[in-house]
Amino acid sequence: MDGATLKKRLLNLQETFEEREDTLTELDRDIGDGDHGVNMVRGFKALKAALENVETVPDVLKTTGMTLMSKVGGASGPLYGFGFVKMAQVAEDEITDENLPKLLQAFSDAVAQRGKVELNEKTMYDVIEPARAAVEAGESVDISYLQQLADETYHMVATKGRAAYYKEESRGHTDPGAQSSVYILNALIGDD
Ligand code: ADP
Ligand code: MG
Repeated sequence: MDGATLKKRLLNLQETFEEREDTLTELDRDIGDGDHGVNMVRGFKALKAALENVETVPDVLKTTGMTLMSKVGGASGPLYGFGFVKMAQVAEDEITDENLPKLLQAFSDAVAQRGKVELNEKTMYDVIEPARAAVEAGESVDISYLQQLADETYHMVATKGRAAYYKEESRGHTDPGAQSSVYILNALIGDD
């Protein structure tokens, strides 16, 4: 994947998040404050202007990170933003099967570090880290696989972020950040 393709895939996420805004908002209303859909739409809407004249893979990743950091807000904005900035630091001219694992490792490490999060805490990390591991293992990671990972957060009890206030009652809801990560990772990895 070259810079132009990456840019197109990331810009397409504006439409994806507009279509999914209500769903993400509802998920965040169940175990949060109901702003995750709005947050993601605001961030990806701002990308169009920010990525004008930005062409290379590292620059597209970096500008996306800075934009998400400043526009998404909430807990998720800095996490996604830092993740993209960290990917930019290890990115090459093209995203290939060979260097994709390194890129996803940077994303996953960034979220783990900034979020002080581990697996099974019912967050975006429960999609990002297993997806990274699957790519590294050479498994094919498509949107239905990513969705399965997000669905698995349904049964978890949240121990990070706002959802942690719900304790046991957070069980029985899909994590909104895990759901938004499905679309972000699909843009980076998926063939569709
Ligand atoms: P806020 O919780 O501040 O309203 P958002 O609603 O935009 O922010 O994002 C909530 C999502 O952020 C959660 O669903 C979860 O996936 C993710 N999240 C929150 N805290 C953490 C954390 N410490 N580590 C990883 N992800 C987190
Ligand atoms: Mg929220």
